[in-house]
Amino acid sequence: MEHSFVCPSCGGQLEVEGSQPVVKCPYCGNSVPVPEELLRAEAPPASYNDPVSDATKIALAEAQAQAESQDLVTQPMSESDKRWLKIIIVAVVLLVVVPTCIGIFASIFGVIVGVAAPIIAVIVQFFAHR
Ligand SMILES: [Zn+2]
Repeated sequence: MEHSFVCPSCGGQLEVEGSQPVVKCPYCGNSVPVPEELLRAEAPPASYNDPVSDATKIALAEAQAQAESQDLVTQPMSESDKRWLKIIIVAVVLLVVVPTCIGIFASIFGVIVGVAAPIIAVIVQFFAHR
Protein backbone atom coordinates (compact mmCIF):
# COMPACT_ATOMS: atom_id res chain seq x y z
CA MET A 1 0.00 0.00 0.00
CA GLU A 2 1.35 3.39 -0.99
CA HIS A 3 1.72 5.80 1.96
CA SER A 4 3.49 8.64 0.26
CA PHE A 5 2.91 11.12 -2.53
CA VAL A 6 4.72 14.01 -4.15
CA CYS A 7 4.31 17.60 -2.92
CA PRO A 8 2.76 19.64 -5.78
CA SER A 9 4.70 22.73 -4.68
CA CYS A 10 8.28 21.47 -4.35
CA GLY A 11 8.22 17.84 -5.50
CA GLY A 12 9.27 16.53 -2.09
CA GLN A 13 8.21 13.07 -0.93
CA LEU A 14 5.35 13.37 1.59
CA GLU A 15 4.43 10.61 4.05
CA VAL A 16 0.75 10.07 4.88
CA GLU A 17 0.28 9.65 8.62
CA GLY A 18 -2.95 8.13 9.91
CA SER A 19 -6.09 9.51 8.30
CA GLN A 20 -5.01 13.16 8.26
CA PRO A 21 -6.68 14.92 5.30
CA VAL A 22 -3.81 17.40 5.09
CA VAL A 23 -0.06 16.82 5.37
CA LYS A 24 2.40 19.62 6.10
CA CYS A 25 5.32 19.42 3.68
CA PRO A 26 8.59 19.29 5.68
CA TYR A 27 10.51 20.74 2.72
CA CYS A 28 8.51 23.82 1.72
CA GLY A 29 6.06 24.09 4.67
CA ASN A 30 2.98 23.94 2.48
CA SER A 31 -0.17 22.27 3.79
CA VAL A 32 -0.90 19.73 1.06
CA PRO A 33 -4.25 17.90 0.88
CA VAL A 34 -3.76 14.15 0.81
CA PRO A 35 -5.00 12.55 -2.44
CA GLU A 36 -8.35 10.85 -1.88
CA GLU A 37 -7.16 7.40 -2.95
CA LEU A 38 -4.52 7.51 -0.19
CA LEU A 39 -7.11 8.61 2.38
CA ARG A 40 -9.37 5.74 1.34
CA ALA A 41 -6.45 3.33 1.53
CA GLU A 42 -5.82 4.51 5.10
CA ALA A 43 -9.46 4.21 6.19
CA PRO A 44 -10.68 0.79 7.32
CA PRO A 45 -12.39 -1.01 4.43
CA ALA A 46 -16.18 -0.62 4.44
CA SER A 47 -16.68 -4.26 3.53
CA TYR A 48 -14.87 -5.40 6.66
CA ASN A 49 -17.38 -7.78 8.22
CA ASP A 50 -15.18 -10.03 10.35
CA PRO A 51 -16.27 -9.98 13.97
CA VAL A 52 -13.93 -7.80 15.99
CA SER A 53 -13.80 -8.36 19.71
CA ASP A 54 -14.67 -5.45 21.99
CA ALA A 55 -11.17 -5.55 23.44
CA THR A 56 -9.69 -5.03 19.97
CA LYS A 57 -12.14 -2.19 19.27
CA ILE A 58 -11.23 -0.49 22.56
CA ALA A 59 -7.52 -0.96 21.87
CA LEU A 60 -7.96 0.54 18.39
CA ALA A 61 -9.97 3.48 19.76
CA GLU A 62 -7.33 4.11 22.42
CA ALA A 63 -4.53 3.95 19.87
CA GLN A 64 -6.42 6.38 17.64
CA ALA A 65 -7.10 8.77 20.54
CA GLN A 66 -3.43 8.63 21.49
CA ALA A 67 -2.38 9.32 17.90
CA GLU A 68 -4.76 12.30 17.77
CA SER A 69 -3.45 13.74 21.04
CA GLN A 70 0.10 13.32 19.71
CA ASP A 71 -0.97 15.17 16.57
CA LEU A 72 -2.09 18.05 18.78
CA VAL A 73 1.29 18.10 20.49
CA THR A 74 3.36 17.86 17.31
CA GLN A 75 1.20 20.50 15.56
CA PRO A 76 1.00 23.43 17.99
CA MET A 77 -0.13 25.81 15.23
CA SER A 78 -3.52 24.54 14.06
CA GLU A 79 -5.70 26.69 11.82
CA SER A 80 -7.75 27.94 14.79
CA ASP A 81 -4.52 28.79 16.67
CA LYS A 82 -3.38 30.85 13.68
CA ARG A 83 -6.75 32.64 13.62
CA TRP A 84 -6.42 33.45 17.35
CA LEU A 85 -2.85 34.64 16.82
CA LYS A 86 -4.08 37.00 14.10
CA ILE A 87 -6.84 38.31 16.41
CA ILE A 88 -4.29 38.86 19.20
CA ILE A 89 -1.91 40.66 16.82
CA VAL A 90 -4.75 42.90 15.57
CA ALA A 91 -5.81 43.61 19.18
CA VAL A 92 -2.22 44.51 20.15
CA VAL A 93 -1.93 46.78 17.11
CA LEU A 94 -5.21 48.51 17.95
CA LEU A 95 -4.49 48.85 21.67
CA VAL A 96 -0.77 49.73 21.60
CA VAL A 97 0.46 50.77 18.15
CA VAL A 98 -2.49 52.98 17.16
CA PRO A 99 -2.56 55.03 20.43
CA THR A 100 1.23 55.37 20.22
CA CYS A 101 0.98 56.64 16.65
CA ILE A 102 -1.82 59.03 17.62
CA GLY A 103 0.38 60.32 20.47
CA ILE A 104 3.36 60.80 18.14
CA PHE A 105 1.21 62.58 15.54
CA ALA A 106 -0.40 64.73 18.23
CA SER A 107 3.01 65.85 19.54
CA ILE A 108 4.27 66.53 16.00
CA PHE A 109 1.08 68.51 15.34
CA GLY A 110 1.66 70.39 18.60
CA VAL A 111 5.21 71.28 17.58
CA ILE A 112 4.07 72.42 14.13
CA VAL A 113 1.30 74.56 15.65
CA GLY A 114 3.73 75.94 18.24
CA VAL A 115 6.18 76.94 15.49
CA ALA A 116 3.57 78.07 12.99
CA ALA A 117 1.42 80.14 15.36
CA PRO A 118 3.98 82.97 15.92
CA ILE A 119 4.80 83.01 12.19
CA ILE A 120 1.10 83.24 11.33
CA ALA A 121 0.71 85.98 13.95
CA VAL A 122 3.58 87.94 12.38
CA ILE A 123 2.14 87.50 8.87
CA VAL A 124 -1.34 88.56 10.06
CA GLN A 125 0.12 91.66 11.76
CA PHE A 126 2.13 92.47 8.63
CA PHE A 127 -0.99 92.47 6.46
CA ALA A 128 -3.10 94.17 9.12
CA HIS A 129 -0.71 97.13 9.44
CA ARG A 130 -0.18 97.65 5.73
ZN1 LIG B 1 6.76 20.89 -0.50
